[in-house]
Amino acid sequence: MKFDSAIFSAKKLDQQDPLRPYRSKFLLPKINNKTAIYFTGNSLGLQPKTTKNFIAEELEDWAKLGVEGHIHARRPWLYYHKFSKKALAKLVGAKPSEVVAMNQLTVNLHLMLVSFYRPTKTRFKILIEAGAFGSDQYAFESQIKFHGLNPSETIIELSPRNGEFCLRTEDILKSIEEHKNEIALVVFGAVQYYTGQFFDIKKIAQATHRAGALVGFDLAHAIGNVPLHLHKDEVDFAVWCGYKYLNSGPGGLAGAFVHDNHARNFELPHFAGWWGHDEKERFQMKKGFKPMPGVDGWQLSNFPILSGAAQLASLNIFDEVGITELRKKSVLLTGYFEFLLKSIEGYENHFSIITPSNPNERGCQLSLLMKKNGKKVFDKLTKAGVIADWREPDVIRVAPVPLYNTFEEVFLFTEIFRNALK
Ligand SMILES: *Cc1c(COP(=O)(O)O)cnc(C)c1O
Repeated sequence: MKFDSAIFSAKKLDQQDPLRPYRSKFLLPKINNKTAIYFTGNSLGLQPKTTKNFIAEELEDWAKLGVEGHIHARRPWLYYHKFSKKALAKLVGAKPSEVVAMNQLTVNLHLMLVSFYRPTKTRFKILIEAGAFGSDQYAFESQIKFHGLNPSETIIELSPRNGEFCLRTEDILKSIEEHKNEIALVVFGAVQYYTGQFFDIKKIAQATHRAGALVGFDLAHAIGNVPLHLHKDEVDFAVWCGYKYLNSGPGGLAGAFVHDNHARNFELPHFAGWWGHDEKERFQMKKGFKPMPGVDGWQLSNFPILSGAAQLASLNIFDEVGITELRKKSVLLTGYFEFLLKSIEGYENHFSIITPSNPNERGCQLSLLMKKNGKKVFDKLTKAGVIADWREPDVIRVAPVPLYNTFEEVFLFTEIFRNALK
């Protein structure tokens, strides 16, 4: 697709956009009474207008029914974790039995590590991308210590080549091969939160399995952003949060995937709770944990209905649109964004885009590495009505989200940004 830098073209792209009507399904934040240019759906997705109704219905049922709502609510609370399975499965490319909404991301990462990080004398290392999200690093460190090991001798961090910002797939695969006798586990952020790089899940999974290790992905920045095929790609486990691209609300419900290959491996250690226990016997309160087959066996507690209701509101929208259509628009929208940014005169003196230029290696986010006055430029953006994201020491992350952002917003952002650079 050839782009040009006239506002007219932005408006035309919006007119031709089949997803255009979806913007009106969301509540858009304002700055000084004007609708903000909200490019932070990668950090906190916007609120669907239907979220309120979904939550209100649960409050109503609770008011009317009290505890009877477990069975008689319009969406019976007892089965609530089942209601989101189909939509989540489609988003991550899995079977419904392989996904479940539960807890928060870091909690789920710990639960997965308990089961899938089983270090032995010789095979005990975890290979991750350098600069992984803090919470993930702390989870790895503490799990390693929990096994009586030393994190600095156990974590292998892969860094990009000198002068580069993203990892090359060939280098990742080579590293896995090099460490094949000592790695127990490989875990990557599927879309790296800082650079926006979308890793080659399939190749990483295959290489990891060839090395005799297990592979997991953190989908915090991937779910609802890029198409995923966790089942086909034979990923062992994955976790995600609900409040970024999934629009489930601040602190919203997270989720996890466990591949069918492990569904009936009841030997795997579990940190257990009653919601993971065989549902036929759950209320008998008998000794001896008997996990449900599949990822359901990793549930701990009864389901948080209000968070779950908020998530259902948003998942209904995803289900209606489909990730294929979303992705189509996303590639166009971010491609257009990149084109406009690169047409700023002398842009290379001010910033570089560290996110890969190849659309197959990124989602909707672009990370702009500022060469001077980064924070000042960012503050000017905020003043001009842009909500973007500043990452120390020098990166501005901007994510036009295909569900609710427009080509015209991308155009306007670039104008504001151009002025802020002056
Ligand atoms: C957003 C994010 C988290 C946040 O963890 P919570 O448990 O949801 O607070 C963790 N890891 C990554 C990679 C993230 O992007």
